[in-house]
Amino acid sequence: METVLLCNNDEQLQKAAEMIKTGLVVGIPTETVYGLGADALNENAVRSIFAAKGRPADNPLIVHLADFSQAVNYTAYIPDLAYRLAERFCPGPLTMVLPKNERIPFVTSGGLETVGIRVPSHPVMHRIIELSGCPIAAPSANISGYPSPTSAQHVMRDMNGRISAVVDGGQSEFGIESTVISFDNEKTVRILRPGSVTKEMLLEVCDSVIIDPAILNGLGENDTAASPGMKYKHYSPMAETIMIESSLDDFVKYVGEHSDENTYSLIFDNDKDNFPYKHLTYGAESESQAHLLFGRLRELDEIGAKKVYVRAPSCSGVGLAVYNRLIRAAGFEVIRI
Ligand code: AMP
Ligand code: MG
Repeated sequence: METVLLCNNDEQLQKAAEMIKTGLVVGIPTETVYGLGADALNENAVRSIFAAKGRPADNPLIVHLADFSQAVNYTAYIPDLAYRLAERFCPGPLTMVLPKNERIPFVTSGGLETVGIRVPSHPVMHRIIELSGCPIAAPSANISGYPSPTSAQHVMRDMNGRISAVVDGGQSEFGIESTVISFDNEKTVRILRPGSVTKEMLLEVCDSVIIDPAILNGLGENDTAASPGMKYKHYSPMAETIMIESSLDDFVKYVGEHSDENTYSLIFDNDKDNFPYKHLTYGAESESQAHLLFGRLRELDEIGAKKVYVRAPSCSGVGLAVYNRLIRAAGFEVIRI
């Protein structure tokens, strides 16, 4: 299959929308990461998404809508709290897991009775949803397990020949996937995947916010996943990734003692004057780290890194999401010095 690269003008967005209407899969920019979009109600189209990514069939897809008011068409029940959250965070990088109705096929929900609903703010994604008239199922547009794509070039690298088109909408603003929440009760939400909508931001609307323990610790042998994505290897570059929580001095010492010519480090911008070994940097504070992280992991593979030591980011605010992606890229292996 030929994968055409479309640009961000109205004629080409119309073309992308037509493709989606006819059951094809298109790579689409969003404010989080690039997504692989198809009509969420068309089972064959959704199967093509799973096939293109090599994604396990029980890992559900998020359904993207132009406006939260459309969520009633695809869900069985919406708590008041969800409406209040939507007022504050939609459009934006928040996915709410709600009981699905019969219109959402089980292929889309990964066999679950629930569906993740998101209203993206990116004008290109928004326009394509409107022009197609479809709710758009869209997981991140990477090969399953690999870091998510934050540019059209990343999508092309993973998906060329596997999907019909990619729309180039520039670099993704946030750079990490949406915050996924479920509702424990009418007042409490549970973060299943941290993202750019932080616990502190959710607390402006909710009485209480639980961070699912699997986010930082992974799943134990007998744990069931609150969110199927928790079970799978994820965000991992080809290079072996090892996270180190320590001072810069101890990091430098450790890397010096454990490196060969194919070892690189991923450090903070402000470390670089005091770091004598091969490295890339990934920002200085949590927002820029989120924005840069996946691109840097991909770059490290391209330059031939076989082993990567990463400076552990802060866990507060958006940092929790950055930490979560990295600890998973590292297979939950952390060296604490
Ligand atoms: P991705 O499509 O790559 O952004 O991943 C979406 C993730 O959202 C999945 O891996 C799940 O962990 C989570 N998710 C989506 N829908 C649901 C749902 N209905 N229930 C729980 N988690 C969900
Ligand atoms: Mg993903």
